[in-house]
Amino acid sequence: MKDKKKPIKLNDQQLMLDASRVADIYHQMTIDLFDQVVDRVRERGSASLEDNPYIWQLEKMSEMGLLNKDNTKLIARYSGIAEEQLRYVIENEGYKVYKDTKSQLLEALGGNGNFITNNLIQTNLANYVNQTTGDIDNLINTTLPKSVRKVYQDIVEEAVAKVVTGLMNPDKAISTTVMKWAERGFYGFTDKGGKRWRADAYARTIIKTTSWRVYREARKAPADELGIDTFYYSMKPAAREMCAPLQHQIVTTGQARVEEGEKIFSLDDYGYGKPGGCQGINCGHTMMPFIPGANYKPDLPEHLANLTPEEAIENANAQSKQRAIERSIRQSKELLHVAEKLGDQDLIDKYKSKVRIQQGAMRDYLKQHPFLHRDYAREKYYADPFSKAKKEVKLREEQKKARELATKRAELDKAVKSGKIVSVSGVTVGHTPPGKAGEPNSVVQHNATNGDVLGRTYYDDRGYKVKDIHFTNHKQPDKHLYGKKGEHVHDFVFDDDGKFISRTTRELTNNEREENLDILWRY
Ligand SMILES: [Zn+2]
Ligand SMILES: [Zn+2]
Repeated sequence: MKDKKKPIKLNDQQLMLDASRVADIYHQMTIDLFDQVVDRVRERGSASLEDNPYIWQLEKMSEMGLLNKDNTKLIARYSGIAEEQLRYVIENEGYKVYKDTKSQLLEALGGNGNFITNNLIQTNLANYVNQTTGDIDNLINTTLPKSVRKVYQDIVEEAVAKVVTGLMNPDKAISTTVMKWAERGFYGFTDKGGKRWRADAYARTIIKTTSWRVYREARKAPADELGIDTFYYSMKPAAREMCAPLQHQIVTTGQARVEEGEKIFSLDDYGYGKPGGCQGINCGHTMMPFIPGANYKPDLPEHLANLTPEEAIENANAQSKQRAIERSIRQSKELLHVAEKLGDQDLIDKYKSKVRIQQGAMRDYLKQHPFLHRDYAREKYYADPFSKAKKEVKLREEQKKARELATKRAELDKAVKSGKIVSVSGVTVGHTPPGKAGEPNSVVQHNATNGDVLGRTYYDDRGYKVKDIHFTNHKQPDKHLYGKKGEHVHDFVFDDDGKFISRTTRELTNNEREENLDILWRY
């Protein structure tokens, strides 16, 4: 029996990784917004801060509208791409996690892979996207521009105060004030505990919280559907106190018990869902549905196999210290960038040496904790996630267009093979369309001199025109509100003597569309 058991496959955490890249775009946006503030403050006008500080201040304040215009443009550019990416990540990666998990469960249950899609999960994912983008929109489009204006105003006023009181020369006054605000960042949100969040850090929190919720729900939904309440708790080299005993164990959302000789831990005994408990904020452990008796646990790599819960807790502390050093390196590099923009050599030297010292501290720290590894990407100042995302969005659009074109072409191929396309007996080219009389039961095509097909004229068994199918709107879009690009039909009635009786206009029937698909397939 035992060899029939299936190992559970842990699908990777692409979703979390991609979501974090979206958060990177918002961070990049605030760096670029700050650059715009610095440029505006430093731009030379008619008044100088040295000779006419108050006139300089007035002039700078009157430029607030220009700054705001630049900000708005930049924010629109970034947030359009970021939102598009977030939607894609949550809806597609989220659904993929759900689908993979469910397929594995069905396989373990010995089902013949009769996978039924669940529309509810797709609706839920779409709702998560809307809720999240709503929260972020408010932050990015309302709070952030206000914060930028406030920072600009404060920099200008403080710089003037420092010059007027004779405390500093104008250049130093500007660079000192700018650096102070660069360190603070743009205000975004104050939480219940009174903690003041930077706008980009708050956006990251919103994105992270949502993507974890999506990830967990996509994992748990298949288990709920199939009546399974047992899960494999993932193993990491670092784990908080409430998580450490659960690592590499089977857990349940129900009662603690023993099943198929497997001890099952109840999540409720470990602070399930509470901020510091298992599956709480920043926990990072994943739960994979697991059927005792039908699944077996994955093999652990050597560095994890003999890890005790105590060691895991210790490692967690060591890892969070590494994250802190990484953050301080990134921060110093960003401040170095601002110093370079200001062209202040003292400040450039200061932050350069700060970066060197922090990198040295990182090297020493990693030597003491060999299980940690250096991740240079986390220490990087500027990796331009925006341009990368933009390329990805464009590529997806192109792929979508190509798929649509291929579908249309396949439809055309089918119509051609089935012999449904009308056979044309002649073509007239130029201004004059086919006349009212022609070969009985024939179809004559009308082409423009550039080769565009303008229409087809159908003749009845007497040889009189019964209809014109026009493929254009005759360049009068408002008068031809037909079809996809204005295509329409004129029905004609002539008596047996060829006397005109009537002409009416209408939409093409499905049958007419099909027999003219050789023209219409591109529409
Ligand atoms: Zn955890
Ligand atoms: Zn017409």
